[in-house]
Amino acid sequence: MSNIALARSCRPDQFSKVVGQDIVIKALKHAISKESFHHAYLFTGGRGVGKTTIARLIAKAINCTNCLEGEPCNECKNCEEIDDGRFVDVLEVDAASNRGVDEIQSILDQIHFFPALGKRKVLIIDEVHMLSNHAFNVMLKTLEEPPEHIVFILATTDPKKIPATVISRCLRFSLNNIPEDKICEHVMDILKRKNVPFERGAISQISAAAEGSLRDALSISDQAIACGEGKITLDNVNSMLGYASTLSIDGLIDAIQQDNVDAALSISREMLNSGADAGSILEELAVRFHSLSLKQLSNISFDDSEMKYTSKNLATLSLTQCNFYYQIVTLGRRDMPLAPNPLVGLEMVLIRLFAFQLSEKTNDVLIKEGKKKSSKKHDKLITQINADQPVANKLPKKIDQLDQMTLLTWPTFVSNLGCEGLLRQFLYKTEYDSFSEDKNIIEIKLKVSLEILMDSALIKKAEVFLTDFLKKEISITVEKVESVSNSFEMIEKANSLRDKRVAKEAFKKNAGIMQLLAEFEAEIINESLIIKK
Ligand SMILES: [Zn+2]
Repeated sequence: MSNIALARSCRPDQFSKVVGQDIVIKALKHAISKESFHHAYLFTGGRGVGKTTIARLIAKAINCTNCLEGEPCNECKNCEEIDDGRFVDVLEVDAASNRGVDEIQSILDQIHFFPALGKRKVLIIDEVHMLSNHAFNVMLKTLEEPPEHIVFILATTDPKKIPATVISRCLRFSLNNIPEDKICEHVMDILKRKNVPFERGAISQISAAAEGSLRDALSISDQAIACGEGKITLDNVNSMLGYASTLSIDGLIDAIQQDNVDAALSISREMLNSGADAGSILEELAVRFHSLSLKQLSNISFDDSEMKYTSKNLATLSLTQCNFYYQIVTLGRRDMPLAPNPLVGLEMVLIRLFAFQLSEKTNDVLIKEGKKKSSKKHDKLITQINADQPVANKLPKKIDQLDQMTLLTWPTFVSNLGCEGLLRQFLYKTEYDSFSEDKNIIEIKLKVSLEILMDSALIKKAEVFLTDFLKKEISITVEKVESVSNSFEMIEKANSLRDKRVAKEAFKKNAGIMQLLAEFEAEIINESLIIKK
């Protein structure tokens, strides 16, 4: 497989290949085939739903010399040059880095000339809401009396920041978030074409994590391929995104149903140790309690591929109980950022699930008193190992002030942010460099070793998240380095390796196990060890 990111190498080159925007595409193709171009288009919608892709397709269809039924031919010289970004009559500007009046004025000066090769001059302005008010005013003059040969295509994720005077002069199209099943189908299609082996469940998980953004789905797939040595597996994707594996969640629900506190706590620690995110575990539990409630009320059948849980012991959890548990885990998830560390946060929620039960008659909350430990014996003999405390306990206390931020405290800081999906993956892989404060904007400098993490949309997402979290305007610059030395991910990995080494040493001191090993001529495989704290 080539090293070009999937999102870039698989960008649709025809309207018919754009995913999930059927109505908009139909309208555009119809207008273009009739050569009835509007002088200004505005595309709004979330990240990675196809705004820039559609803008470029319009630029191409307008200037293509063999345009057929609104589709660019992709073969003529104009199409080719537009694809390569070197066609003189199509200008693409990122408003985030060209915000000022002077920049916009100089761009407008360029497009006032008649097209040199194409039919019209097309000006694409991405993230147009970033323009300064002055720049908008300058642009407005051209929008009010547009020369025949100019087409504006504006794209934004935040239309509220665009002056109404500008919006009213544009033909506006709102692009939807792309439905999960469409993303899933499309990603699988691309992977098949690229001969990348994958597990279907993994792609479902990726599609859900992408939250309607096809570009995010493809970026996560890229990372999964990189982490999975060429193939995409569910286990890999789950641990990459910090999701709990389906099997462990099943076990957790079983433990709750069987009122087995020990099992629940040990499963949850195991899940955290294997890289699952505490918030995601609670989220998954909430989804399960929802499914269990639905199951009792209606006969909706659950599709296995959607990984909905159907319990063997349905009778033991009543509808009221499910609702009550749902409440506990969703509230627990809300409070997670306040917990001293993820393990404590998660365990307190689980303890609440066991400690409280609803009186079926009065709906009063009862506290289970003097609850005995579950008597259920474990089937397997588990050798108790006094491994060290979990990672979360070893990291220094929560750091939420930037002035205390150092290379060493950054991993704790990001582990406490409670972010998920691609953003979490990004922050977990970064190393802190420095920060500087200027005019109330704090610039954080980070280092990464993976090229795909340099994605500007991803960095922007991190900026928005941190701005919200720290209540200060944050700007992030990212530097690509050979390797990082202190990311959260590395600390986690190192701790897990150390725990396994400690465990192996403990085994060696256990006479019974050593005898077993000798008798069967066996050896302990490090990777197979699961640490039960
Ligand atoms: Zn063409």
